[in-house]
Amino acid sequence: MTMRRPRGRRKLPPARLRAVVDPYGGAHRKVRALLLAALASMGSAPCPLCGKAMTVAMPLHLHHSDPAAALRGLPGDQLTHARCNVADGGRLGASITNARATATTAKAVTKPRW
Ligand SMILES: [Zn+2]
Repeated sequence: MTMRRPRGRRKLPPARLRAVVDPYGGAHRKVRALLLAALASMGSAPCPLCGKAMTVAMPLHLHHSDPAAALRGLPGDQLTHARCNVADGGRLGASITNARATATTAKAVTKPRW
């Protein structure tokens, strides 16, 4: 006797039929689309993080110029190179981690190096 998997009653549709999960939601996508359209019309614009030119052909991210906005779940407000944004996000994450560590380890007052 072999167990047969029941057909036709799957909890999730196969991956190819599912919509891509967007962790940022519609607002983020809308702002990004607007900024990409603006960049496309300009041709190129300097990246606010590294100052080098950005074009729509490059991998770009929507960046939060205000880290507090990111923590509140607001969409980003400017385009940056994907690499620049990820590097900057790493710094933000590190600063949050460091702030938590400082808060929990009593009065360990250490100045950040940057
Ligand atoms: Zn950049």
